[in-house]
Amino acid sequence: MSEKEHSEKIISEEQQGNTLTLEKIQDNTRKLYIESYGCQMNFSDSEIVASILAQEGFNTTTQLEEADLVLVNTCSIREKAELTVRKRLEKFNAVKKINPGMKVGVLGCMAERLKSKFLEEEKIVDMVVGPDAYKDLPNLIQEIDEGRNAVNVILSKDETYSDVAPVRLNSNGVTAFVSITRGCDNMCTFCVVPFTRGRERSRDPQSILEEVNDLWDRGFKEITLLGQNVDSYLWYGGGLKKDFDKATDMQKATSVNFAKLLDMVALAQPKMRIRFSTSNPQDMTLDVIETMAKRENICNYIHLPVQSGSNRILKAMNRLHTREEYFELIDNIRRINPECAISQDMIAGFPTETEEDHQDTLSLMEYVKYDFGFMFAYSERPGTLAARKLEDDIPAETKKRRLQEIINLQQKHGLFRTQQHVGKTEEVLIEGPSKKSDAHWMGRNSQNTVVVFPKENYKVGDFVNVKINDCTSATLIGEAVEYSKNN
Ligand code: SAM
Repeated sequence: MSEKEHSEKIISEEQQGNTLTLEKIQDNTRKLYIESYGCQMNFSDSEIVASILAQEGFNTTTQLEEADLVLVNTCSIREKAELTVRKRLEKFNAVKKINPGMKVGVLGCMAERLKSKFLEEEKIVDMVVGPDAYKDLPNLIQEIDEGRNAVNVILSKDETYSDVAPVRLNSNGVTAFVSITRGCDNMCTFCVVPFTRGRERSRDPQSILEEVNDLWDRGFKEITLLGQNVDSYLWYGGGLKKDFDKATDMQKATSVNFAKLLDMVALAQPKMRIRFSTSNPQDMTLDVIETMAKRENICNYIHLPVQSGSNRILKAMNRLHTREEYFELIDNIRRINPECAISQDMIAGFPTETEEDHQDTLSLMEYVKYDFGFMFAYSERPGTLAARKLEDDIPAETKKRRLQEIINLQQKHGLFRTQQHVGKTEEVLIEGPSKKSDAHWMGRNSQNTVVVFPKENYKVGDFVNVKINDCTSATLIGEAVEYSKNN
């Protein structure tokens, strides 16, 4: 299994563009074809969209040609993601010639940035809907039904979709994502998210608990709490994170931070596995790590993107922590929770990055020895501070070479980490058949490492203790010993 396939809970490359489907509702007559690109957040949003449209008389289809409405949930994070979506839009337009009644809509992160280009200049879509406007879909669909173009890209201060029960698209019935925040206030200079998804707001903890309890009742065994920056979660009765200063004393006293939320969720469903993603080092606090150590059902895994190992580059990226502070955080995680796996996101070739900066990244990796990693070449995004202030001056060749060095080192560390599991017996939650062998199950241990083992009589959704006999740099290979006590 390649590093990319392993892709923890970040949506893997092969799932990009998956057509999402759900069970048919008898009375629904219109057909929706929906494709998603990008991060988990986008895939999770598509579940909200499908839920809203199921109420509007739509069933999902995997047959593009028979669709009445085609929606593509888009990603802007790197140029490549946008180019992929453009190609798909060309394909949809070709199909429109065969099926002229078909309408095409763009959802998500590309909506705001490219609305006039798509609707007015190129006329390749009928509808453009930003990530905070999905509740307006029924009105927008009516507009396009009546032959007009429709657009709503308004970013909201308080929309969290807490009152929409997401349907689970293409679900394995075992693991699910639960959104807890939307938007991001961090303003990393390379990142387009604050512009495409707006300011950070947190979802009411009660509605999060209701969703988690409902998932448990429906047989789900693991949830991942989702946000661009989960550690920044803060509920004080609604409103933007940046307005917390103006909250009343009562609101402040009863506010819920991420550590508290994590504890509430873990206690609400003590047999459910709890994960979360993504953590930003500048916002991760000791009480989160302590809560993880305290509650057995919170998995021993933190996705802790660092992006660079050089203090100069971290500053230019506006990451608001130093290399030394990051090491301190890593040391604290290892001290409080020695079993904890840690993964990274890394960007190679940020503007002005020197060989020395790059070496700092490699030496930071040597210190941490990450279990997994998601590594990218810098891609300039229009509108970001880096695009406005810094020339994209690292030649493509250099970016590529540095990226490859980072990937090679990560692979070495991945193997070092997987080897530490060999000989141990670990609890695995079965998610489904192994991609490579029908005779094997695939699941994950607490650290989020993929484990494969012979099926025997176990089934999807079982918690099984597996003796680890062998490994690759990304996969553990073992055999089941018994049901774990969590069953
Ligand atoms: N919110 C998280 C954080 O701040 O670390 C992750 C957000 S982003 C959806 C996922 C990853 O994409 C980032 O951690 C970063 O490594 C990468 N990324 C974001 N903008 C990028 C850019 N302009 N060029 C290359 N990679 C980028």
